[in-house]
Amino acid sequence: MSEEDIAEVAEILRGDWLTTGPTVAAFEAEIGRLSGGHRAVTSTSGTAALHMAYAAAGVGAGDEVISTPMTFIATTSMASILGAKIVFADVEEDTALIDPVLVESLVTERTRVVAAVDYAGHPADYDALNSIAAKAGALVLDDAAHSIGSTYKGRPVGDLADLTTFSFFPTKNMTTGEGGAMVAKDAAIAQRAHEFHFIGLVRDSARFEITSEGPWHQEVHEFGVNYRLTDVACALGLAQLRRLDAFKKRRAEITQRYNDALESVDGIRIPVQRDDVDPIRHLYPVRVLDGRRREVFDKMRADGVGVQVNYMPVYWHPVYTNAGYRRGMCPNAEAFYAEELSLPIFPALTDSQVDQVVETLMKALQ
Ligand SMILES: *Cc1c(COP(=O)(O)O)cnc(C)c1O
Repeated sequence: MSEEDIAEVAEILRGDWLTTGPTVAAFEAEIGRLSGGHRAVTSTSGTAALHMAYAAAGVGAGDEVISTPMTFIATTSMASILGAKIVFADVEEDTALIDPVLVESLVTERTRVVAAVDYAGHPADYDALNSIAAKAGALVLDDAAHSIGSTYKGRPVGDLADLTTFSFFPTKNMTTGEGGAMVAKDAAIAQRAHEFHFIGLVRDSARFEITSEGPWHQEVHEFGVNYRLTDVACALGLAQLRRLDAFKKRRAEITQRYNDALESVDGIRIPVQRDDVDPIRHLYPVRVLDGRRREVFDKMRADGVGVQVNYMPVYWHPVYTNAGYRRGMCPNAEAFYAEELSLPIFPALTDSQVDQVVETLMKALQ
């Protein structure tokens, strides 16, 4: 948090609107602008944004959603909760991003959405995914919880898929405390998402089915939830959004410093990057070879370095294995998980702290 972030939030607390006010509209307009000019709807979390996106896309029982196992469970659980069947497509061996060749082999007439994840901030291959989905009559969803500010072939995340969801949880690239947003290229889907997150209330008199009540009237055509983000949170979001370029630049510097220090170290692999993307590096996932990931994790934690593991394959969660999903289904994702170790990366990390992380890693590898 900068002093400007704090001042902008304080100004909202002294104003007239705590929620459903002009700061929500302003933040949604900025998210939409950064996403290629499409409509954005904010929500109380990235998980809520995914729920809203699948609901607005009409996902339900009888539908299939093809997705990646290398993600946080909300990418798929929010479609499962609506009754859809998740079909897991394995990831590419090097990027850990959903493999379009496998997606193509898994498409059926029931496929409603292909849900990709821009793991670690690196956009998936949207040209391939969009053309596969278009042929199948399915929508593409980009879970961009890691990748707000990234580009693919010069185009911004938010403009790459039919639906894009963001998370503004504190560990992500920018934050509103809790919070999220969804962007839809189709205006009708965006409006349906807006109503879903607003209890299903319809306020446009041209659409009323009951016309006799009076000026106070609003009505519900489809059930909705209350996932509204507050003006307080959106003020923080606007302030953070202005710093996104600086956050991206610092994350790139840290990435370069890790790359330079680690590229020729034996026993690990550093993350790869395709030529056609300019990612915001949300995670710096190294791969620890020779079955030593757990040992290196424990040693680095013991030395005070907050390493993480992202992620256990989603279908390993009991909620999926109890429903019949089996280990071994996506070997690339499982091999990646067995070796993955996320080194600390965030804008306030100093060069000397990066060097300290590298030293701690080298010591653990000895
Ligand atoms: C964080 C995250 C989410 C969920 O966002 P929340 O704001 O924590 O609900 C969804 N997908 C991915 C890939 C994430 O990293």
